[in-house]
Amino acid sequence: MMTETAITLENVHKYYGKVHALRGLNLEVHAGEIFGFLGPNGAGKTTTIRCMLDLIRPNQGRIKILGVDPQKHPQEVKQKVGYLPGDLRIDGDFTARSFLKHVRKLRKNKRNWEDLLTLGERIGVSFDQRIEHLSQGNRQKVGFLQSFVSEPPLMMLDEPTLGLDPLIQQEVLNIIREEANKGTTIFFSSHILSEVQKIADRVGIIRKGVLVEIAETDELLNRAINQATVQFSEAVDESQFNQLPNIKILRINDDHQLFTLEVSGEMDGLIKTLAKFPVRDLAIHRPSLEQVFLKYYKEAEED
Ligand code: ATP
Repeated sequence: MMTETAITLENVHKYYGKVHALRGLNLEVHAGEIFGFLGPNGAGKTTTIRCMLDLIRPNQGRIKILGVDPQKHPQEVKQKVGYLPGDLRIDGDFTARSFLKHVRKLRKNKRNWEDLLTLGERIGVSFDQRIEHLSQGNRQKVGFLQSFVSEPPLMMLDEPTLGLDPLIQQEVLNIIREEANKGTTIFFSSHILSEVQKIADRVGIIRKGVLVEIAETDELLNRAINQATVQFSEAVDESQFNQLPNIKILRINDDHQLFTLEVSGEMDGLIKTLAKFPVRDLAIHRPSLEQVFLKYYKEAEED
């Protein structure tokens, strides 16, 4: 079966004056998936989302959103996408309730009003206070809810959990997951790696305006380097471990009974070699996505 494509970007470039924010970005998001768009500050995440919604125009490249060119049919794309901007500003005397009613009027395919209120209650939205008097986190909740006013086939959420406390963050992730379970495609940006790890089916990493990695979240974690700590019940010679191409010895204690090893990829070679010795204890530490991606962030800092 061919996977349907919800978002395609081909060789997209965007300049802000002399700043080359997107440098030939290629990206494909499948219909029905939760796609986590990760990258350090200034990598180009918000710029990408704005180009996808024709809020700004790329200088070069091709974009298709649900089969539609946003430059040719911006209104069609905007109707089909639930959008949480990174810098939502709501002017005027709105309360959350009146603002949501106002936005709802403009949307086709409206979500049931009671359902929307229930979602809002789950994340603790203050419906009847003036939005301008709300704290930053509470304003963010209104913005998040606003992107759920319709039932769009695609949602683009720019840092959906920004400024929210941990319990509410978790509830926001639950709501996103539930929405995806109904078949909605979710594209969300973040620099909180742990939250991407929790809900994204696939992850793309942008750095300096290009995609440097794209893979299934699970696959990336499996590809990662594990650390193994082995306690033998007698002294063991390290030469057999040195011969394994995917094993690096990090530490051996003085009595040659405690080994700390780095294992990249499959465990098979390690397990078979260990079986030749009396093993008292074995611990494998799987890195989190955080550790996997720290290296991209580090590289970004070093540039
Ligand atoms: P963050 O995680 O900090 O929100 P981001 O990945 O969303 O970052 P962008 O906001 O897309 O990054 O910015 C990409 C680059 O473009 C940065 O170097 C930024 O300084 C620059 N940039 C963004 N908007 C403008 C603008 N309006 N004018 C000039 N430069 C801009």
